[in-house]
Amino acid sequence: EAKTTGRDMALFYSMETDLRAVARQTMEQQLRRALERNELSLHYQPRLSAKGARLLGVEALLRWNSPVLGAIPPSEFIPIAEESGMIRAIGGWVLQQACEQWVRWQALPQGQGAHPLADVSISVNLSAAQLSDPALVSDIEALLARTGMPAHRLELEITESQLMDNAHAAAQQLAALKALGVQLSIDDFGTGYSSLAYLKRFDIDRLKVDKSFVRDMLTNPADMAITRAIIALGHTLGLRIVAEGVEDLATAQVLGALDCEELQGYYFSRPLPLDHLEAWALQHRLLQGASLRTLDATS
Ligand code: C2E
Ligand code: MG
Ligand code: MG
Ligand code: MG
Repeated sequence: EAKTTGRDMALFYSMETDLRAVARQTMEQQLRRALERNELSLHYQPRLSAKGARLLGVEALLRWNSPVLGAIPPSEFIPIAEESGMIRAIGGWVLQQACEQWVRWQALPQGQGAHPLADVSISVNLSAAQLSDPALVSDIEALLARTGMPAHRLELEITESQLMDNAHAAAQQLAALKALGVQLSIDDFGTGYSSLAYLKRFDIDRLKVDKSFVRDMLTNPADMAITRAIIALGHTLGLRIVAEGVEDLATAQVLGALDCEELQGYYFSRPLPLDHLEAWALQHRLLQGASLRTLDATS
C-alpha cells in the first residue's frame, strides 16, 4: 500500500516536472518568434527628483504580449531569454528602441517650450550575457552614432550579481562604456553582494535601492536602517541614490528628507505604454508646482 503510494507520488512528481519542462519549452519556442512577430514592446516608468518632483528620466521595461500565452511578465521570460541565448538579440532590440524613441521625443510638438520628454535620460536594463558580449561597447557606440543620441542621456542598469558573475570582464566593459559617456547604475542594490570593493572599482553614477527595502521602510525598522545605510554609503562614494518602489507620498517625503536624490515608483506612475507616458509627462508638468509643494512639505 505504502509502496504504491510512494510510486504514485514519484510518478506524480515526474509528471509535474515534465509539464513544467513542456511549459518552459513552449515559452521558449514562442519567445523565439516574438521579436519578428512584433510581440515585444517597451513601457516607460518615470524617475523624478525628490526635491521638486522634476521628471529626470524614464526606465524602459520590456513587455511581451504573446497571442498564444498572453501577457508574460519579464520576471518569467527574461530568465528564459538569458538561458537560451536570445537575450543578446532581445537586449539589442531594447537598446535600439530606447535610443530611437529618445530621438523622437526631441521632435515632439513643442507648444510653449520644449516637450517635457525632450530632456530626460532613458535607462535600459542590461543582462549578464550582454555585459559579457565583446561586441556590446562597439554596438552601443554605433547605435549612438546612427541615432544621434548623446551618450550621457543613455543610462545602463546592471545588478550587483551580474557584475560579480564575471567581475574582471565586467570591469573592462564598464570602463569602456564610461569612456563612451553613458551613465551607469547599480540596480536592485542591497539584494546581492553589496560589496564595497566593487563600488570603489567600477565607475558608477547611481545606486538604485531595491524596492524590497523601500516598500516597507516606514513600518519596518530594519528596512529603514538598510535604506539609510545605502544612502549614506552611496553619498560617501559620490553616487546619486534612486529609490525604486516608492508607493506612497509619506515614503517619498521621508526619502527626500534623507537626501535620497531620485524617486521611482507606483506613487508617481506605473510603467506606461508610450502614448500614456507622453500624456503623463505633459500633465505632470502642469501639476508640478503642486507636487513640488507636497513633496517638500517635510524638508
Ligand atoms: P527592475 O529593473 O528593477 O525594474 C523595476 C521593476 O519594479 C519593474 O518591474 C517595475 O514595474 C516594478 N516597479 C516599479 N515601481 C514599483 C512600485 O512602486 N511597486 C512595485 N511593487 N513594483 C514597482 P517589471 O517591469 O516587471 O520588470 C521586472 C524586472 O525585469 C526588471 O527589474 C528588470 O530586472 C527585468 N527587465 C525588464 N525589462 C528588461 C529588459 O529590457 N532587459 C533586461 N535584461 N531585463 C529587463
Ligand atoms: Mg532596472
Ligand atoms: Mg533589475
Ligand atoms: Mg530594480
